[in-house]
Amino acid sequence: TKILWNDQIVEEKEVKIGFEDRGYQFGDGIYEVIKIYNGDLFTATEHIDRLYASADKIQLVMPYTKDKLHQLMHELIETNELQNGQIYLQVTRGNSPRIHNFPNPAVSSVLTAYTKETTRPLAQLESGVKACFVEDIRWLRCDIKSLNLLGNVLAKQEAVTKDCFEAILHRGETVTEGSSSNMYGIKDGVLYTHPVSNLILNGITRKVILDCCEEIGLPIVEKAMTKEETLQMDEFIMSSTNAEVMPIISIDDKAIGDGKPGEFTRKLQKAFEQKIPSTLQV
Ligand code: PLP
Repeated sequence: TKILWNDQIVEEKEVKIGFEDRGYQFGDGIYEVIKIYNGDLFTATEHIDRLYASADKIQLVMPYTKDKLHQLMHELIETNELQNGQIYLQVTRGNSPRIHNFPNPAVSSVLTAYTKETTRPLAQLESGVKACFVEDIRWLRCDIKSLNLLGNVLAKQEAVTKDCFEAILHRGETVTEGSSSNMYGIKDGVLYTHPVSNLILNGITRKVILDCCEEIGLPIVEKAMTKEETLQMDEFIMSSTNAEVMPIISIDDKAIGDGKPGEFTRKLQKAFEQKIPSTLQV
């Protein structure tokens, strides 16, 4: 498959990334993961807007306009004949002799994007998954979709070691989000989730889910839950581009509700599926 490298679509072996690339040395860059259903980018505008917002927040100059990026991503999908999968895209502050402060004069940013065939996690969407609490030791700008993911990586690894699908991060008693997802609890017919702030990534799937809540008449309260409240929820959900509306059926081996995906979870999954652009849902 071909790769988008800056403004060109090329063979993988043609891509040259310097060993002093600031993404490689400092994690000095940003990224996005966008889902492709049935040959179509899902919520592309929202992802592109978030990418450019992340760029602004770290004073990274994007190499071209949002429209041009959108068009190049479409070309990449067509070239690679991708029907169902994802695009991974990252932009770094470029290649320059290693010093912490920004290169001066500035160098061009380095953009790479590739496609990957993936399938929806249907078995897990049906059965639900296990999660565990992990202390949130990340920095205080989790709203930036930055390449610096060591805090997230260590949290996910701890979850996997405990045979869990995801880590539920908490700062002290306050639940923030997952290591690569947003978190929601449902109690007495109300959905609770952490408000958009510097402590979480404003998930695109989160926005879609909040729209789904309106559609099915599930009231939303954007308020952080404590760990204790989390365990008292009737239903619990995580969301991300790849995991979609994923039921969490236990946390630290304590069952949520009756330990099965609940009624509102199923309604949200159905409402979400109806937004997937497809004639054939894979
Ligand atoms: N929070 C974190 C830390 C993430 O890494 C992600 C995405 O992988 C999300 C939330 C969910 O965001 P989205 O729904 O845009 O994929």
